[in-house]
Amino acid sequence: MSEIFKNDIKFLPGVGPKRATLLEAEIKVCNLGDLLYYFPYKYIDRTKFYSVKEVNGKLPHIQAKGKITSLETIGTGKSQRLTGIFSDGTGELELVWFRGIKFVKQSLKTDREYIIFGKPTVFGQKLNIVHPEIEEPDKKENVSSGHVMPYYSTTEKLKKSYINSRTLNKLQYNALQTVKGKIWETLPSWLVKKLGLIGLEEALFNIHFPENSEKLKYAQYRLKFEELFFIQLKILSLKVNRSKRFKGHVFSKINQYFNTFYHNNLPFQLTGAQMRVLKEIRKDVGLGRQMNRLLQGDVGSGKTLVALMSALMALDNGYQACVMAPTEILANQHFSGISKFLKGLDVNIALLTGSTGKPARRVLHEQLLNGELQILVGTHALIEETVQFKNLGLVVVDEQHRFGVAQRARLWKKNSIPPHVLVMTATPIPRTLAMTVYGDLEVSVIDELPPGRKPVQTYHNYEKNRSKVFDFLKKEIAVGRQAYIVYPLIQESEKLDFRNLEEGYEHVKQAFPEPRYRVSMVHGKMKPAEKDAEMERFKRGETQIMVATTVIEVGVDVPNASVMVIESANRFGLAQLHQLRGRVGRGAEQSYCILMSSYQISNESRKRLDTMVRTNDGFELAEMDLKLRGPGDMEGTQQSGFAFDLKIANLGKDGQILQFAREIANEIIEADPDLTQPGNNLLKKQLLKMKNTRFNWSSIS
Ligand code: ADP
Ligand code: MG
Repeated sequence: MSEIFKNDIKFLPGVGPKRATLLEAEIKVCNLGDLLYYFPYKYIDRTKFYSVKEVNGKLPHIQAKGKITSLETIGTGKSQRLTGIFSDGTGELELVWFRGIKFVKQSLKTDREYIIFGKPTVFGQKLNIVHPEIEEPDKKENVSSGHVMPYYSTTEKLKKSYINSRTLNKLQYNALQTVKGKIWETLPSWLVKKLGLIGLEEALFNIHFPENSEKLKYAQYRLKFEELFFIQLKILSLKVNRSKRFKGHVFSKINQYFNTFYHNNLPFQLTGAQMRVLKEIRKDVGLGRQMNRLLQGDVGSGKTLVALMSALMALDNGYQACVMAPTEILANQHFSGISKFLKGLDVNIALLTGSTGKPARRVLHEQLLNGELQILVGTHALIEETVQFKNLGLVVVDEQHRFGVAQRARLWKKNSIPPHVLVMTATPIPRTLAMTVYGDLEVSVIDELPPGRKPVQTYHNYEKNRSKVFDFLKKEIAVGRQAYIVYPLIQESEKLDFRNLEEGYEHVKQAFPEPRYRVSMVHGKMKPAEKDAEMERFKRGETQIMVATTVIEVGVDVPNASVMVIESANRFGLAQLHQLRGRVGRGAEQSYCILMSSYQISNESRKRLDTMVRTNDGFELAEMDLKLRGPGDMEGTQQSGFAFDLKIANLGKDGQILQFAREIANEIIEADPDLTQPGNNLLKKQLLKMKNTRFNWSSIS
């Protein structure tokens, strides 16, 4: 960073100690550098002038040059307003003020030329602009017209101290005058030249005071590229260094466990994607460095089997493996699923959860230490201090985003050479996000469902069709199927949600009376044991309808359930909706997902629901989610510890720049892993400065 960027903001003309305190508290601007990197959130091109006859109410905003031919105050008291007639010779429109009438009236002169700017609306027969911005064309100072105007976000407190967007732009001007000629280039000159980027100084000038929209684009590109490039460079260099630092167990052979399973136990053919992913894993675990692999696959794509077969690779080489699930239900499910798969094979497998009793635990601990126990399935009970393995070779973590980073870190400490790690997730992660949040993990994708699955059919229904929806459920139940009805649970209004759930439950019980129908209910307030018992009842088919909150979101497997009704579906995020939908369509029968909402929902909600109806593709949904919500809200990003403080790039929109930045970073790191070549000096310095700020998590995963 340029030395001058460190100058305290309070010494900048127009700031002073009071405003400095405010700027720091409100927008974290402490020095010149902070200010210059406080970028506009939008621009309005005010190089274009309209003639009044071109103006209509549909234009977002217009700028015109002309005269105010009359000014008149109308009404009294609260309903008082000032109206002016603006004319440019091609037509007239009305200007209206409700506030500051006296001041406006004093400062405007009829028969002088002005430039007006604002949003035109049609009121009655007339076009008008309420509270237009007004400038005199011949005044040189602080004129917006004729420029591409930047807009900065401010806060209420800033505005109260008269720091609005315009003030911020003025401060930027002062700052740029101060730093002019003293800005150090942050990218090596060979790279700037090779990529045809504009220099940092030029970019900073144009981001705050664009010469024209073309120049602005260059400035944005340069700054976005740089931001994403350094993140990628950091991630990739960490990755290279880690694989050098952390040795891994070598699984050199495929042997009897894997082969016997493959030939005798596998009840179906692996999908092409499963086969490919297994090959990727097999290669990785043979290289002598620790594997850190993220396995992404849509719900029902068969990740468990891949995990199991990876575990068998560990066993074949004399190592132990463990599978960790986020909830007890899921741990149980994995344990029984894996045990079934392994039937007839001589593999010692056990389950460890919070409900495992003390005596059983003691035996487990002993068998883990002497190596008798080969596969341990469980919840985070697995990472308790007392659980020690003889030689843990592979850790599989299911639904990773449910685990905190700290919890994962503890697993690593269990061996001197860390075990290979396979992290599985069904939450599809858009590529751009995967490249940053999980950028230092290898990624495998199962992008194919086992054959014979019928895609879930999705419908959006309104409240008035509820009886039809319930009739449909009855039909499904009549042919032996089961159904979920899910209610939202959102932290802030937990009480209200709970009431909704209870009311819903009563309503469902009335519509589906006993003894013909049996209805279950699970929610987050129940004790885990109660919850599990109720889930089990549903799983065994003793109840036909499961009324639930999103506690059933992750991984629960009841193949006989064929209908998923989601209440107030507009209140769910896309990722969550998709997860919920994944609870059905797990058997051979046609399954359905019914999204319920009221008529009046926001545009964004409607877009989400329409997208759900249109596609089953988790990745497409994830991309859409990122576009609609922005990366800060994406599931998994908070827990990953990655701070999304991107200043200019946007992971939802700048995927191409990101991809390019990653390629360039990769080329550089491959040719010069430690960045010791003279031309990479600058890069090395930058990376060292980034150390341990936003990438703490990387040294763990
Ligand atoms: P997820 O990826 O959601 O964890 P699972 O591993 O639970 O998916 O698999 C879903 C279902 O598909 C399971 O019942 C599993 O036995 C079955 N399955 C997995 N692989 C295949 C395959 N290649 N062919 C047919 N069925 C498969
Ligand atoms: Mg699963």
